[in-house]
Amino acid sequence: MGATDTSRLPDYAPIPDRALGPALNAQGYYVGRVEGNLLTTRDGVVLFDAPPSIGRNIQRAVDEIASANGVTNKITHLVYSHHHADHIGASSLFDRRVTRIGHEETRRLLLRDDDPTRPPNEETFQDHHTLKIGGERIDLAWYGANHSPDNIMIHLPDHDALMLIDIVNPGWVPAYLANFSQDIPGYLEAPANALAYSWSHFIGGHLGRLGTRDDVAVHQQYMADLVASAKHAIDTIDPGSFFAKYRENVWAATRELLDATAAAAARPVVEKYTGVLAAADVFTESTAYLLMQALRFDLGYGARVRP
Ligand SMILES: [Zn+2]
Repeated sequence: MGATDTSRLPDYAPIPDRALGPALNAQGYYVGRVEGNLLTTRDGVVLFDAPPSIGRNIQRAVDEIASANGVTNKITHLVYSHHHADHIGASSLFDRRVTRIGHEETRRLLLRDDDPTRPPNEETFQDHHTLKIGGERIDLAWYGANHSPDNIMIHLPDHDALMLIDIVNPGWVPAYLANFSQDIPGYLEAPANALAYSWSHFIGGHLGRLGTRDDVAVHQQYMADLVASAKHAIDTIDPGSFFAKYRENVWAATRELLDATAAAAARPVVEKYTGVLAAADVFTESTAYLLMQALRFDLGYGARVRP
C-alpha cells in the first residue's frame, strides 16, 4: 500500500475528554465490570457478539474474568446482536457446540451470506425471547428494522444493563449515514425503545466507552434537532434555481440541490453539538443527507403532488 500525503487533510474539532473510553491493556483489550462481550454464570459463559477486531482476546478476557469470579471459563452460549461481520465475524473461533442465539432474520441473512466466519444461529426468536442461563436472566427483543433488519435489544435486568448495538455511540455522533443504518424511522425510534427499559449501563458497541441514560437522551436530542433542521432546509431551499442552472442535466441539479440541502441541515446542528458530542463536525452532514432522503421517501415530507 502506498503512503498518502496527509498534509492536505482537514483538521477537526478536538475530541471532548468525556467521549474517550478506558485504556486497553498490553494485549489490546479492556475488561470492565459491565462489558459488552461476556457474562460469566455458574453454568458457563454467555458471549454477546464476537467482534473480529477483538478476536482471540475474547477467550483471554473470558479466562481472566472466569478465574477472578471462580467460575467455569467454558463458553456455552453466543448471542448475536445482528448479522454484521464487524460484530460477529469471530464467531467461528468458538466451538460448533456453543448455542448460538439470535433473531430469525439474523439466521436468514447468515444463511444467505454463507460466510464461514459467521455460523448461522440455530436458536431463533421473533419478537421477544427470555433466556435463563446459570441463574441469569437475559431478555431479547426485536422492534423491527433499524440499523439493520435484524438488530435486537439485549436487556440484562440483573446487571442493570442494556445492549443495543450501532444505534447510539455514547459521547459521539453516529458515523457516516447514521451508522450506515438501513431503516431511518426504526433508527430514530430505537433510543426511546431502549429508554423504556430499566437500566443504568448502556453498551452501544464501538469506541469502547460504556454509556448512561443521559448519553442515550443526548443522542436522541441530536437526532431530533437534525430532523427538524433537515425539514427546515427542505422547506427553504428552492429546487427551481438548481434545475434552471443545469437544465437538461437533471442529475447535476439533483446532486447540487441535495448536497446543498444536507449542508444547510447540518450547519446549526454542528454548531450546537461541537464540544458536546465528539466528531459532530466530521459526520453530521453525512447523517443529515440520509435523514433528508428518509424524510422524503419514508415519510413523504416535502413531496408535492402535481395539481
Ligand atoms: Zn452493524
